[in-house]
Amino acid sequence: MRFILPVGLLATTLAIAPVRFDGEKVFRVKPQDETEANIIKDLARTNELDFWYPDDTHHVSANMTVDFRVSEKESQTIQSALDQNKMHYEILIHDLQEEVEKQFDGKEDSSDRHSYEKYHNWEQIVAWTEKMVNKRPEMVSRIKIGSTAEDNPLYVLKIGKEDESRNSIFMDCGIHAREWVSPAFCQWFVYQATKSYGKNKIMTKLLDKMNFYVLPVFNVDGYIWSWTKNRMWRKNRSKNQNSKCIGTDLNRNFNASWDSSPQTSNPCEETYRGHAPESEKETKAVTDFIRGHLKSIKAYITFHSYSQMLLFPYGYTSKLPFNHEDLAKIAKLSTDALSTRYETRYIYGPIQSTIYRTSGSSLDWAFDLGIKHTFAFELRDKGKFGFLLPESQIKPTCKETMLAVKVIAKYILKNTS
Ligand SMILES: [Zn+2]
Repeated sequence: MRFILPVGLLATTLAIAPVRFDGEKVFRVKPQDETEANIIKDLARTNELDFWYPDDTHHVSANMTVDFRVSEKESQTIQSALDQNKMHYEILIHDLQEEVEKQFDGKEDSSDRHSYEKYHNWEQIVAWTEKMVNKRPEMVSRIKIGSTAEDNPLYVLKIGKEDESRNSIFMDCGIHAREWVSPAFCQWFVYQATKSYGKNKIMTKLLDKMNFYVLPVFNVDGYIWSWTKNRMWRKNRSKNQNSKCIGTDLNRNFNASWDSSPQTSNPCEETYRGHAPESEKETKAVTDFIRGHLKSIKAYITFHSYSQMLLFPYGYTSKLPFNHEDLAKIAKLSTDALSTRYETRYIYGPIQSTIYRTSGSSLDWAFDLGIKHTFAFELRDKGKFGFLLPESQIKPTCKETMLAVKVIAKYILKNTS
C-alpha cells in the first residue's frame, strides 16, 4: 500500500513498523480489591489485552498499577466495563500509532557519526560494534558468543585489558525486543566508558582494574522484528512445535525454578518459557559464555524497561538471598546516585516483593550460579510513554543510569578479590 502515500510520508512510513496501531489505547487501571482484579482478568480472557505492566494477566492483583494495550475496537468494551464497575482508570495513551511515530524525536546528526541520542536498528548496531573495535582496538574487542534462531550473530563487546583473569562485570541489554531504551543504554555505556578512560577518575580506575562484557542486544531476532514488523514484539522469534504462536520469552527460559509457573507453559503467552530450560539458542549462548567466564565475572547486570526500578534476587521465591543486606545497600547507593542528576526516582528491592513472582529469569539464574551481585534495571519511564520512550529521553536516561552503574562497579572493585 505504500505506493499510494504522498512522497513526504513515505520516509516516515518506511521507518516504522508495518503493523499499525491507529487508535489503540493504553489503559492504566488500579484495582482496589480482588474483585476488581478479577474483572481485569475476565476482560483479558475475552479481549486481546497486551499487558505492559505487569507482563501478564496472572500477576494482576489488588492495589497494583496495571497497564495494558488494547485495539481501538475493543477499547470501547473495556472502557464501558470499567465505567460500569466504577473502577479507577486513566488512559495513558490515546493513539498508540501517534506515539510510535513521535518517539523518533532525537536530533538528526548530519555527519556519519553514530548518534547516541537516536534508536538504531540491528544493522546500525552491528556497524557500530565494528566501529568501536576499530577506534579503540587496545580497549575494545568483539566476541561472537553464538547465533540466534534466525542465524544472526550474538556479539559481546569486551571493554578493558586483554587479561582474561581480571575481575569483570557482565551486562546485557534488549532481552525483551520492544524495550528499545535498553540497547540504547548499552551503546551509551560502551561509548562513555571508552571515551572517559584517562579523563574520568572513576572510569579510569575501573578500567585499569576490571573488564566489562557488554551484550548490546540479547534478543536480536525479536529486536529486528520490532523494527521491521511489529513495534510491540517482546519474545524471540523461534518456532514452537505444535503451535502457530511464535517466540519464547528469553527472560523465562533460564534454569532458575524454570517450571514452577504453569502460566508460562503456553506458547501463545507473552511470557512463554520455552520447551526446556535454555532451549533457546540466545539463552544457551549467554549461559555458556557466563559459565565459561564464571571465575572472573563478579556482577551481572541486565537492562529492561519500563517502571524505574532496581531489582535483585529472588524472583522465584520470597526467600531472601544470603547477602540481602549487601544487595539492598548497593541498590540504595545506586538509586541515590541515579536521582542526583535529574531527581528521577527509582524504587529497589527483591523481584518477588517489589514487582511479582517470576520464574526462569536471567537474574536469579546468574545469582544461583554463584555471581553474588546480580541486578536488573527497569529504566524510564513510569508509563507515560512506556515502551515508546521518545529519543529525546535517551540522553537523560543514560546519563543518570551511568551514575547508578558506576556505583555498582565501584562497589565490586572495592569488595571483591
Ligand atoms: Zn523486560
